[in-house]
Amino acid sequence: MKVNQAEITISAVKPEQYPEDGYPEFALAGRSNVGKSSFINKMIGRKSLARTSSKPGKTQTLNFYKIEDQFFFVDVPGYGYAKVSKSEREAWGKMIERYITGREQLRAVIQLVDLRHPPSQDDILMYDFLKHYNLPCVIVATKADKIPKSRLQKHRKIIKETLDLDPSDPLILFSSETGQGKEEAWAELEKRMK
Ligand code: GDP
Repeated sequence: MKVNQAEITISAVKPEQYPEDGYPEFALAGRSNVGKSSFINKMIGRKSLARTSSKPGKTQTLNFYKIEDQFFFVDVPGYGYAKVSKSEREAWGKMIERYITGREQLRAVIQLVDLRHPPSQDDILMYDFLKHYNLPCVIVATKADKIPKSRLQKHRKIIKETLDLDPSDPLILFSSETGQGKEEAWAELEKRMK
């Protein structure tokens, strides 16, 4: 998809604030710094629509980006910050759970993991949580440009095995530097928009 139009519609904390357009939605989940903002920006061909390296501690919101009057990317705050307090973590969990379990137009969760390292305990928990609710997932392994070509398949296998990946969930090697995986990611999204 060639994107000309992309704008943030709302930063929502509660369901009453979610957009009512009814367009398909794709939520993005991943630990902080995994490359989530870079992924969104690369996909839509913008430099900085989605903020990069958003800091912890500030208001945790679901950011709805409307793309081409066709669908939404829903940016979920990153997880895995050691410094976040227990109450903040709980509020985060509730917000995500409320969105994920009650949102009919949610077509898939794009879970981002860093291709360089085996998925963390938080990554595994997140994936198990999504699968517990039977949500279709697309796993995007970021920073593929940092891995030598000869080792890509080995890293891929580690991610697949560590997450115990559901065979119906695709795993895409992605780089926001080179654009690797961009077409594959679009194909997966377009398939799910119909
Ligand atoms: P977020 O916190 O998940 O939104 O992560 P960002 O998109 O802000 O990325 C965190 C850092 O990783 C930034 O310094 C990015 O430039 C870098 N980064 C993100 N994606 C890639 C990638 O595909 N390749 C490389 N080499 N660096 C990346």
